[in-house]
Amino acid sequence: MSEPAAGPSHDRPPVDVVVVGAGFAGLYALHKLRENDFTVRVFEAGSGVGGTWFWNRYPGARCDVESVDYSYAFSEDLQQDWAWSQRYASQPELLRYLNHVADRFHLREDIEFDTVVTSAVFNENDTMWTVTTDKGAEVRSRFVVMATGSLSTARTPDFEGVESFTGVTYHTGNWPVEGVDFTNKRVGVIGTGSSGTQAIPIIAEQAKALTVFQRTPNFSLPARNADLSEEFLTELKERYPQYRKHEREDGHGGYAGRLRPTPTQSATEVDDAERTALFEELWDRGGGSIMTAYKDFATNADANATLADFVRGKIRQIVKDPAVAERLMPTDYPIGTKRVCLDTNYYDTYNRDNVTLVDVRKTPIERITEGGIQTSEAEYPLDAIVFATGFDAMTGSFLKVDIRNASGTRMREEWSAGPRTYLGLSVHGLPNLFLVAGPGSPSVLSNMVGSIEFHVEWIADCLTYLRDNNLERIEAGLGAQNDWVDHANEVANLTLFPRAASWYMGANVPGKPRVFMPYIGGVSRYRQRASEVAEKHYEGFELS
Ligand code: FAD
Ligand code: NAP
Repeated sequence: MSEPAAGPSHDRPPVDVVVVGAGFAGLYALHKLRENDFTVRVFEAGSGVGGTWFWNRYPGARCDVESVDYSYAFSEDLQQDWAWSQRYASQPELLRYLNHVADRFHLREDIEFDTVVTSAVFNENDTMWTVTTDKGAEVRSRFVVMATGSLSTARTPDFEGVESFTGVTYHTGNWPVEGVDFTNKRVGVIGTGSSGTQAIPIIAEQAKALTVFQRTPNFSLPARNADLSEEFLTELKERYPQYRKHEREDGHGGYAGRLRPTPTQSATEVDDAERTALFEELWDRGGGSIMTAYKDFATNADANATLADFVRGKIRQIVKDPAVAERLMPTDYPIGTKRVCLDTNYYDTYNRDNVTLVDVRKTPIERITEGGIQTSEAEYPLDAIVFATGFDAMTGSFLKVDIRNASGTRMREEWSAGPRTYLGLSVHGLPNLFLVAGPGSPSVLSNMVGSIEFHVEWIADCLTYLRDNNLERIEAGLGAQNDWVDHANEVANLTLFPRAASWYMGANVPGKPRVFMPYIGGVSRYRQRASEVAEKHYEGFELS
């Protein structure tokens, strides 16, 4: 590994591209841009590669898109060599994979770890960005690629008294590398989203007592995680390119997509018995496939209610105490409009004697005390508190960096009423800056590795086009950006998604504008449009 360059800008030669982040997006961006003969410097806040899978080491962390889909497709050799052990890979396996990728493609030599990018300033005079880090280093580059992640700014709510707690606190999104032993401990978990739902069953097995503080119940589906057999992997690898092609068209998982054709019927068009039989089959199959049983769960409230009722019925069957079952049932938003969780034994966990469920919507958390959590009803004595309270999603990591054009535009101001982008890739006023899986693209609504690969390849093609045509500058046109934002809002408003107070809407962060952030018009439609824009010599962008 080469010695990381440090110090002020005059010590460092400029590079073509600065990439911020070394998760799935940053690693591939580095590889792809190097392949296209660009010089690249990557900055990563963590001490290793992996992004999400570096930080989220909480017990039970694993992907909810099948491993064979939630992995890079760009290298046939890589996908032939790597063997996933389980249907849904665990965090340690995903982190091993990303380390393998970093080694295999010799990526570490161009990454500076333990380094946070604090600002990026574009100078119109010489068409160069100056990127500054928390180490005081500056590097100048023609382009900046923000591969900073949609779910990488962990958020702990402002509970009064946190600092007085004498036990230990953790956040699922920033879990200690050495792990945590909860044996004989009284543990409180705040939050029942995907992270809480994965961690709770495992913490319950270890802890003396577990108290779960739930504000909004989530719909959770059984993952039915399992080991993958040799036969399965051999068969898969024979057809991997085909599955990947399917993923490119469908955006959710080529292999998983193969198992169920795209639905054409409404849930309201079939009789109860037929619908229930299909729901039962897909519930038993596990994973997210039940969400595609019919075509209209996202747009038709009646269709949506059939599935929501079915899942509530399952909760009633699994959880023995009817009052606890009732508390676990979501009733005030359509299923799927907050991210559905995939779990292993989540609802069963509430049948354990050492687990208590507290409804903090009814009895709110008033403060954290020296000895535990005080709600409006009782004080719960605890040795440890786990915040499974999520992220400042989709915009948090971009806005933590002071991104601005020296001639005026500042991202924080431009986005003060919600993010505004062209295709989720670019922002008017901030030339030569690209976002990977940014707001306004399908991003978190898709298999993110596929979306990341699509964006990285789009960006690499774009930079190559500029170089081949002796162009130095590309910027999203204001009109094209406005049209895209209007279109993205229009399609979101055709769905039930805006009805939920979700992180997709920014609702989990007090004061954050309520705007539906990802693009929900369809992955294939999105990719078609973005490809067309490129084919038409970057239609809607201004090039010079
Ligand atoms: P990240 O992996 O978040 O990496 C971004 C990196 O940028 C981080 O390492 C961060 O430290 C670094 N960074 C950020 N800001 C700065 C800065 N200013 N300076 C320096 N470095 C910076 N998606 C799916 O499609 N399927 C799944 O199954 C799935 N499971 C998930 C499970 C968890 C627990 C979480 C939190 C998310 C999950 N996601 C899933 C979403 C997941 O974030 C993406 O799939 C993917 O890993 C994102 O990769 P990325 O490289 O874009 O971002
Ligand atoms: P999340 O979905 O935002 O869940 C946070 C939880 O904390 C919610 O239950 C929320 O309640 C609760 N909460 C937040 N502030 C609170 C407060 N002040 N008081 C009480 N409760 C509070 O976050 P996450 O679980 O970390 O998941 C985020 C996303 O990451 C997921 O949606 C998914 O995309 C991804 N992820 C995926 C997996 C996977 O299975 N592969 C695992 C983890 C994460 P409210 O709902 O009431 O706000």
